[in-house]
Amino acid sequence: MSELKPCPFCGEQSAYVGYTRDPFSDNRYAWVNCGKCHSSGGQFKQDVYPGDKLLNRDEMESEAIKRWNTRPIEDALNKRIAELSQAVGLITTLKPTMVMDANHPLDMVREVAEHVTARIAELEAEKCVLVDQQREAKNHLIDKNLHIDSLYEEGYKLQQRIAELEEQVWDLNLANERLESAYFADETIAPDGSLKPSVCKLMKRVEKAETDYSISEAHVTALLNRIAELEAAQRWIPVSERLPDTKIVYDKFDVIVEFENIKNGGTTRCVELMSYDYRNKSWNDDCGEYGFYPVAGVTHWRERPTLPEVE
Ligand SMILES: [Zn+2]
Repeated sequence: MSELKPCPFCGEQSAYVGYTRDPFSDNRYAWVNCGKCHSSGGQFKQDVYPGDKLLNRDEMESEAIKRWNTRPIEDALNKRIAELSQAVGLITTLKPTMVMDANHPLDMVREVAEHVTARIAELEAEKCVLVDQQREAKNHLIDKNLHIDSLYEEGYKLQQRIAELEEQVWDLNLANERLESAYFADETIAPDGSLKPSVCKLMKRVEKAETDYSISEAHVTALLNRIAELEAAQRWIPVSERLPDTKIVYDKFDVIVEFENIKNGGTTRCVELMSYDYRNKSWNDDCGEYGFYPVAGVTHWRERPTLPEVE
């Protein structure tokens, strides 16, 4: 069963549905009653004639409720209230500071219109700024596009250059392959697998160079030994280290003698030619017809170098 609307007279919610049947005529009645002021409405009567298709009680009650709930004036008023609420909502949206004054509706409309006009002027000014910005952005975009075009052109040139260089590399690779195959085909191995004469010649040269090198090495060693020998022979030997092992008292040696300088009291060193007497263990100065005189102060000695032959 549908919901019952409140009583249109007193506003009471607790209405109820009534139903009755006349036992004599068999006519049926349905209606709605207000639970407070007892007003009734929506009456629905069904007269019974033979052969009629009869509604049952539920169907009749539904019809009564439908009639009770049908309120065209109330519905029209509610619709109008909704429209006006919407209009008030719109006005407060357009001008949020608006104070509702139901006594001066035209003033309110005028005020809102002024507000809307001012807002439109504001928006138009903003639109001008935006149009300027859009124009600027468009110019910027055109510049960028031009720049991109030039980059594309440059890229195309670079690609062409790359292709050229790749071709050159390809040619160089081919030339290199040709050189390699020429080297292997002509210079190294003959078709029967033996080494080619030019290679044999080179190998002989290498062998000879290696032999020359080992000969030079032996020669250098001998020379170094000889240098060491000569250096040893040239060396001044301290008398504290060893003395000549000669048994001939006339053999002469170069010696370094240190003696006191009478004039200034210092020491003078000089090289002299002297013989060594192994029996007396003394260095002797040869004074010709006056004989040999022993000398003190010899610190070093060495063999006399061999004198060159006179031509
Ligand atoms: Zn009532």
